[in-house]
Amino acid sequence: MTQPSVHSPDEALLFIDGKARPAVSGETVDIVSPATEEVVARAAWGGAEDLDLAVSAARAAYEAGEWAELTPKQRGRLLVRIADAIEEHAEELAQLESVDVGKPISFTRGFDVPAAADLFRYYGGMVEQLEGAARPAGTRSLAYTKREPLGVVGAITPFNFPLNLGVNKIAPALAAGNTFVHKPAEQTPLSTLRLAQIMSDAGLPAGVYNVVTGDGATVGAALVEHPDIDKIAFTGSTATGKRLIATAAQTLKKVTVELGGKGANIVFADADLAAAAQWAFQAGFFNTGQFCMSGSRLIVQRSVYQEVLDRLVAIVEAVPVGDPADPQTVLGPLAHRAQLDRVVEYVAIGRAEGARLVSGGELGTGGDWDGKGFFHQPTVFADVRPDMRIAQEEIFGPVLSVIPFDTEEEAVAIANGTPYGLAAGLHTSDLARGHRVAAQLDAGIVWVNSWAMFENTTPFGGYKQSGYGRELGPEGIEEYLQLKTIVINAE
Ligand code: ADP
Repeated sequence: MTQPSVHSPDEALLFIDGKARPAVSGETVDIVSPATEEVVARAAWGGAEDLDLAVSAARAAYEAGEWAELTPKQRGRLLVRIADAIEEHAEELAQLESVDVGKPISFTRGFDVPAAADLFRYYGGMVEQLEGAARPAGTRSLAYTKREPLGVVGAITPFNFPLNLGVNKIAPALAAGNTFVHKPAEQTPLSTLRLAQIMSDAGLPAGVYNVVTGDGATVGAALVEHPDIDKIAFTGSTATGKRLIATAAQTLKKVTVELGGKGANIVFADADLAAAAQWAFQAGFFNTGQFCMSGSRLIVQRSVYQEVLDRLVAIVEAVPVGDPADPQTVLGPLAHRAQLDRVVEYVAIGRAEGARLVSGGELGTGGDWDGKGFFHQPTVFADVRPDMRIAQEEIFGPVLSVIPFDTEEEAVAIANGTPYGLAAGLHTSDLARGHRVAAQLDAGIVWVNSWAMFENTTPFGGYKQSGYGRELGPEGIEEYLQLKTIVINAE
């Protein structure tokens, strides 16, 4: 865990009740660049008192009706204004996200920030379409349904996509009329804290969106326990998710959880192998493998196994790894030291289990800065058996396990043979097989002849122990609404 230090006036501040402010305790935390290990910023280190203030502000804003009782048109228009404001600050947000998380700048410019703006616009446009239904209720009586907000939403998000995994919750929750308290990951709070000010400057009323940074075990746990929070939206590890669900049950909060994954990416012999190898690289290494929807298991038909492996290794060994600020960089470092340690541990496990290391396997270097930074070489293990730990457990780093198969049935059995069920994919030129196998895979999203293609409209979420609830699409806003039925007796 990162160590709190003493308050300094140049820190990134908490955002509570429309104002940026230090933690009540005055504590701050150093934010370290994962590329250079230098301290790049300080962030306020919130505690339980700050969380209480944030929940009170969000509750008061909800009860005052300033947000939920705006007309749908007004609320929608404000969300679109936030989208515009994100675009006006796009370069600043892209830089912050890149420095804080170690993401390549071309990715934060090209994906993270534009996707965040787009999603506010998408849900802003949906506010006016939240309709109820009229239902028959006797001869003269009338029943109708209304979709209402839940109240105050608490969100807890991880370090790998701070902006997007936040906005996936913020945009639909606010569109639905809720107010919001957000606990971002302790390692990567900078873009979230900046977003809060941008949203406020765009005209969001005070108290509607609040951010408290800090530790999961204190601020995160206090948010889940808080009696004034109506729903928890969580993205993170399966272990934390299970604990959180048990705690939330004490106050019967609604919960959506997007948890771990061990995505299976199947390549059939009839696929376009050059394209499949390129997608396999994307699936395994996008965001340095710190992606719950990564395709971290590549399952390849034996007749093309060696060819796919050769093509993949050629791509992996040519990929520019290094300085996230360099627009040519494709793979940056791991986002923090504990994550690097975890990768090193799993590479040792893979070797000990007898998997064949065909690329990488060592710590990496990120540029001219003398061995500093949380870099690890992109790593490929071949001849992995489906029961090995590196084929079963989520590593959350640049380590791809390649597994051979013979028949379609065997491929599906291997793919479905983990406790997870978040994302899966398959590559084939046979349309019928594409549909048939996609239908059999235990996953909330399946990509055929691609990987990680997202649109605002395409919901994702877990099967099995990858969680429940959906983000994006019209389904994403339903998670923040409840249905009221009103019956008028006209007899
Ligand atoms: P990751 O491996 O992505 O760090 P975690 O589940 O540990 O996964 O963390 C995801 C988020 O959950 C972070 O914001 C973290 O602070 C928070 N968190 C960790 N432990 C708890 C907890 N006991 N209660 C609530 N939130 C927690």
